[in-house]
This record gives sequence, C-alpha cells and structure tokens, in this order.
Amino acid sequence: MLQGHLGRQFAACILCLAFIRSAAAEERPDVEALLNQVSSALRSRPEKAIPVLAELQNLRPSLSKAQNERFLVQSASSLGFQGKNAERVALVNGFIGQVDTAGRKASLLYELIDGNRALGRHEEALLAMNQSILLLPKLELTGDKITVLQGAVSLLYAFHAYDEAMDYAERISALDTDTPGAYARCVGLTDQVDLLFKRGHGAAARALTPDAIAACDANKNTLFTLIIKTYAATDLVDSGQAQRGIDAILPLLKEYAQIGQSASFNTSLQEALARAYLTTGNTSLAQHYATLAYEQARGDAQWEVQLEASKTLATIHRAQGQLAGAMDYYDIHMGLQKKVMRDQSQMNLAYQRVKFESQDKANQLALLEQQNKVLNIEKQLQHGKNQNLILLVTLGSVLMVILGAGLLKTLKQKNIFRRSAQIDGLTQISNRAHFTATAHEVFQHKACHASLVLFDMDFFKRVNDTYGHGTGDWVLKAVTQAVSAQLRAGELLGRLGGEEFALCLHNTATTNAMALAERCRAAIASIDSRPSGYQFALTASFGVATQGMNELTNFEETLVAADKALYVSKNGGRNRVTVYHASGDYPESQPAPIKEHDKF
Ligand code: GH3
Ligand code: MG
Ligand code: MG
Repeated sequence: MLQGHLGRQFAACILCLAFIRSAAAEERPDVEALLNQVSSALRSRPEKAIPVLAELQNLRPSLSKAQNERFLVQSASSLGFQGKNAERVALVNGFIGQVDTAGRKASLLYELIDGNRALGRHEEALLAMNQSILLLPKLELTGDKITVLQGAVSLLYAFHAYDEAMDYAERISALDTDTPGAYARCVGLTDQVDLLFKRGHGAAARALTPDAIAACDANKNTLFTLIIKTYAATDLVDSGQAQRGIDAILPLLKEYAQIGQSASFNTSLQEALARAYLTTGNTSLAQHYATLAYEQARGDAQWEVQLEASKTLATIHRAQGQLAGAMDYYDIHMGLQKKVMRDQSQMNLAYQRVKFESQDKANQLALLEQQNKVLNIEKQLQHGKNQNLILLVTLGSVLMVILGAGLLKTLKQKNIFRRSAQIDGLTQISNRAHFTATAHEVFQHKACHASLVLFDMDFFKRVNDTYGHGTGDWVLKAVTQAVSAQLRAGELLGRLGGEEFALCLHNTATTNAMALAERCRAAIASIDSRPSGYQFALTASFGVATQGMNELTNFEETLVAADKALYVSKNGGRNRVTVYHASGDYPESQPAPIKEHDKF
C-alpha cells in the first residue's frame, strides 16, 4: 500500500535528475532559475511550485524547446501532486508526440503511467508502461532508466503483480553497482524490501532490510531510510509483535513530522499503531490513532488504509460494547472491501487484455495470482459478514435488510468472475485449460525448479452414490477451500476435471513440493463433513514431480510423471503422497493413512 506514495516521492526525484540534465545546457538564466526553483519545490514542498509555474506560464513565448518541455513535465507533476490527474494526463498527451529525446519521453510516460493509474484508466497506464519499457535500450542516463523501471514497479505493484514488479526492482538496484551511495541501489533495494513483505516473504524482507538501509544512508537519502524503517515497523505489528511495533513506530512518526514530508506514510503508520494498541489492550490510544488514520486516509483516498482502519474501529467499538457504532464501521468496511475488490477485478481485466495483446504470456502467472487474491478477498468478505451476523442477532431484524442488500451485491460481484472463461464454475479456481496454459509458461523458465502436485479424491464416486451429487459438489468446494488455505502467492491450484486437481509450484524443489502436498493431504483428511448434512471421511491421493529431476524436462513430462506417482499412491492404499521416481521404486511413498474409508 505504500508503493503508490513511494512512486510519488520518486516522481519528485525524477525532476531533480531532469534538473541536472538541463542545468548543463546554456539557457536564459532567469527562466532557468525559475525552472530550478520549481524542481526544488516539487522535491520538498510541492504546493510552492504552483505560483512559480504560473510565472513561467507568462514567459512561455520566450522559452526554448528544451525549457518548454521541462516546464510541461513540471506542470504535469505539479498537477499530479494536486490530484488533478485528468488535466495532468491531457497535458502530457497533448505534447508527448512532439518530444524527440528518449529521456524526456521517459519522464512524460511516467506521468502518464501514474496519472492514468490514479484515474483508474488501467489499460492506458499499462500501455504507457509498455511504451516506456521499449525506450530502455535507447536510454543512456541511469536516472532515465530508473524512471522507466520505477514506473513499471509502481504500476505492477498497484496491479498486485509482485513477482513481475520484483524483476524490475532488481534491475534498478543492478543499474549502478560501482558508485558508492548510488541512488539506484537505494531505490531498488527499498522497492525489494516492500515487495518481499507484500509477497509474504517476511524472512527474506527482514534479511534485506539492513542492506537497504545502508544503501539509502550511503545515498544520504533520509526519506527513503525512513520509508524502509516504516516497512520494518509495520511488519512488527503484522507479525504479532505489538509492543515492539509501538516502540518502533512512535519515533518514526516524530521523524516524519520533523522532515515535514509524506503524510501518507504517517497515515499508514498510525493505522498500524492503532492495531498494535488494540492488541496490547489500550483501546483509547487504539481509537485515537485509528480515527486519525481513518480520517486522513478518507481525505487522501487511500482505500486500503481506510479499509484496515475501519475494521480496527469496528473491533474497538465492539470491544467497548457499542454495537451500533461497530455495525456502522462494519458496513463501511464492507463497502470499502467491495470497492477494492471491484477495482482489483477491473485492473485484472485490463491487465489480461493488455498482456494478451502484447503477447507477453509469461505474465499470466501474475494474472492468476491476482485472480486467486480476489477470490481470497471474497472469502474474507464472507468471514466479515459472518461476524456481522453475530452482531445482527443482538441488534434486531431491521439491519438484516441492509445486510441482505450487501449479500446481493456480493453475489453479483461473484458473477463478474464467473464470466471469465478461466475459472471453474463450481470451485471458483482455475479450470483445466487455464491451469495448463499457465503451468506451461511457468515450466518454460528452466533456470529454477518447478513442481507439479496432482491429487484425486479417494472413492469419490461412493460419496455421490451414497449421499447424492449435491453432497459431492459440496465436497469439491470444501476440498478447494481446504487446499487454498495452504497456499501462498504464486502457488496455483486448478481443477483438471471431476475430482482431480493440480498445483503448479514455480521455483519449488521436490522436498518443498512434497511438504506442501503433505499439508494439503492432512487438510483434506481433517475436513469436517457435517455441514454437508452427513458425516463421512474424506481423503485424497497425491503425486508429486519436479522438472529438472528424474530426467523430466518439460511440463508434459512432469504432468505424466506426477500422474504416475498419483497412481502409485492409489495402489499403495490411498490417502498418501508419492514423489515420482524414474527408477520405478518408491522409497518416498508415505506410510499408511491415518483415516480409514470404512465409513462409506
Ligand atoms: P478413486 O479412489 O480410484 O479415485 O475412486 P473414485 O470413486 O474417486 O474415482 P472414479 O473416477 O471412479 O469416480 C469419480 C467420480 O467423480 C465419478 C463422477 O460421477 C464424479 N464427478 C465428476 N465430476 C463431478 C462433479 O462436478 N460433481 C460431483 N458431485 N461428482 C463428480
Ligand atoms: Mg477419485
Ligand atoms: Mg478421478
């Protein structure tokens, strides 16, 4: 959630690079002085740029081509700071065609990426990003390359395409490895820390944090150092270390106040602080900071911060026995949740269209991750509703009408995803065609191991025969949910057909794939079937195979191998995990099942 603010902060730094570039050229000093004044204002106090830009507007006829271009980039950036993104985009579109230097074009495309993103014009933003990436080979200055790469990182981050964003972040830090204190290294590593946290790789993010801080200290970049510390402090709260989180956040809030910068980071910190105080039982401070964060986020349209803060406020009210207040915040929370979901699904579709058009199929992985994420949000939303339901019982039936309307909207929302030909209608996970196409791409990256886990429900026909097809369907959904809960970002679950499923695990060696398969097996075996109306045992048999092991060189071979291993599991007594072995003997096959099937 912080990347957007980092992007804006970064936009100001682009202007300092632009400043270095044109200061070298010989231009009229008065105009140059004003342009430099705008650059420096945009870096520290953006509002101070507005009157100087107005002054420059009067001098337009006397500006050289380069000065005029610089003025227009600055104007676009200033409009961005003022939240006037429609004007910003119109301004850039009006003159980008006349700009012939690649570096300047990169700066303008950055304005288009950021402006269109803010306007929710996702496809335009992605197209601008693609155009900007195409400029890379023509760029000579490191600063211009950072502009392009950071534009891609910020946008892909907004699309939750974290893996792809990571590739670009790594390219930023690799730009300038020879210069001690290089800006590229500071920016690239800051991005990487943020992305690792976002991808749920907390340990890796924590390990990289000291390097990132050292790089930004060496660059004397106080603000970026502070930003990294913000990620680390938020992580303390997110990982359950509430008191340590509080101790880390309080001094950071003071530091932000001292440098008079980035209210948006402050808001995020206050939101995390509220959750920390809630955990330690200090509800009055929790309420204080949650309210501050909520109001500030509402003013700045920081949806995700507002979303979290509204939930915290609902919980606080509930803890204080103020059920009506809690209900209000739950309603707000659910409304925001739906808005965020709607935005994500629109981004998702835009991403799909642009990516297919540019034939960059490798990105389908990120797309599917995005879809899985949306599905997870739906689940959370449902969970939130369940909590609301508890409240409703005490509040009476009038409010039930409101919730009913909410549920209806959620169902409509679900239909949007169902329309996509890539999702299986019953289980809402990737269907066979989409799973296969995506896995195919994943397996083309031969540099790292990719594994497949196949599994098939045991004696599933008996469930249908004994309890009816409806119960069978219930089982398929319950299994999907149980397995999905075991997965992390980038681990793809698909329904290959009937009661057969598959997981595609990129960059995963056999041992980890086997461990995950074992967790999924245990999760299925512990499904409580009673909500279906009947009590019976459920198990599945698993087969695991890894590309690059046992002479498996591509997706098809790995799929066949996993299938063979699955049948070894079936023949060996079911409810077990078998790893494919080219030799045909199976030392890895797990011992006999814990649960029996006799109950069928
Ligand atoms: P095994 O342990 O050997 O895999 O036995 P099994 O009974 O699970 O395997 P079999 O292939 O004989 O049966 C699969 C059954 O799955 C048959 C089919 O009717 C049922 N099935 C396939 N798709 C669906 C579905 O969408 N819903 C329901 N309820 N049943 C389905
Ligand atoms: Mg079966
Ligand atoms: Mg089967």
